[in-house]
Amino acid sequence: MSTIMEEARRGVNPLIKKIAEKEKVSEEFVRNGIASGRICVPCNPNHNPEPRAIGEGMSVKINVNLGTSRDIVDLDSEIRKMKIALKYDADAVMDLSTGGDIDAIRTRLLKECPVMMGSVPIYQTGLTAARKNAVVEMTEDDIFNGIEKHAKDGMDFMTVHCGITRETVNWLKKSDRLMDVVSRGGSFLTAWILHNDDENPLFKNFDYLLELARKYEFTLSLGDGFRPGCINDASDQAQLSELMTLGHLVKKAREAGVQSMVEGPGHVPIGQIPMNMHLEKKLCHDAPFYVLGPLVTDIAPGYDHIVGAIGGAIAAQNGADFLCYLTPAEHLSLPDEDDVKEGVMASKIAAHVGDLCRGKNAEMDERMAKARKKLDWDEMYDVCIDPDKARKYRSRGCTEKQDGCSMCGDVCAVKIVNQYLIKEGNIVGNNNNDC
Ligand code: SF4
Repeated sequence: MSTIMEEARRGVNPLIKKIAEKEKVSEEFVRNGIASGRICVPCNPNHNPEPRAIGEGMSVKINVNLGTSRDIVDLDSEIRKMKIALKYDADAVMDLSTGGDIDAIRTRLLKECPVMMGSVPIYQTGLTAARKNAVVEMTEDDIFNGIEKHAKDGMDFMTVHCGITRETVNWLKKSDRLMDVVSRGGSFLTAWILHNDDENPLFKNFDYLLELARKYEFTLSLGDGFRPGCINDASDQAQLSELMTLGHLVKKAREAGVQSMVEGPGHVPIGQIPMNMHLEKKLCHDAPFYVLGPLVTDIAPGYDHIVGAIGGAIAAQNGADFLCYLTPAEHLSLPDEDDVKEGVMASKIAAHVGDLCRGKNAEMDERMAKARKKLDWDEMYDVCIDPDKARKYRSRGCTEKQDGCSMCGDVCAVKIVNQYLIKEGNIVGNNNNDC
């Protein structure tokens, strides 16, 4: 059976038409992007989500991480978190569950999730081995059986840390990193390579991974196991060595007709973000880039959704296609429902800023500016990303019948200028305005 990438190589089809219409670009642009691998559409037929495209020329997408932990297992709460993410238009959800009945949680989330869903199968595999004895005792079969199980269940994309190799581990040994490895999957595989004195099974058997991806039509999200975990560690040999390996694997995936994207840092000083984005695009042949932040400082636990949104906006301006959200609970605890909402909104703002840089969705900002000029609050609520919050704030000291808000009260600058300013040749102000 043909894959989504192979079908795009044959010509325009209904999936491509749907994406072209949604993204307001030509069908040929989408077809060419998917066929070449510069755009991916994670869409496992066993899940069959509403298709959304990630990559060159597409609007910037956001992902919301959900899932239980050893200490907090509450599936109903995870479902509520997912509904919050969907209400605010998250493009993707990842189930990173590590507590409770992981299989049951994954299948329930998949059943209730209309957008693309991803997972990191090695979490479950490593945990199972750790609970028996040790992470390093997971076998190659365990690793691939875990991936196949998630694929059968319908995962649309999966993080696979194929770029950690004996060579990249050697770079890590020689590095002066402060945080060494902060990726969970990365830590499992680094320990496995060192303990077993063997090559990473995901790298060694990459052709078999491609066979599975073809069979089930899932997108490879090539994980950055050596992503910097603090800004001191950014852009070093260990990170870039892994990135170069991922570039090589992107090419192999394309030859096999398998969709892939590349995951990126991590903690990065703001000035290094453009270089990191450009390097990924160059070394990974313009593969869609999925960034985890980037976080531009290490010192703001409790506010990492803001730290990540600053980095995410700059990353999107410089080529990142897919932003993984961060919540205020990052580095501290499993997020609750309020944290999920805060994280989604911060990430949506970063993605929209990225869209503006790509010449997309500027009409939303224009609508808002025009509504503000007319003091048309209904229109403002309609276009803004969080109408409930906007309404709540405006109600402080002001009724809906008033024109301005409690910020300037009866000296509302917009109202005053609307009363007196008549633009030459073009009346912008509204002299009939009641304000
Ligand atoms: S009162 Fe001030 S802040 Fe409020 S709408 Fe008028 S100018 Fe804007």
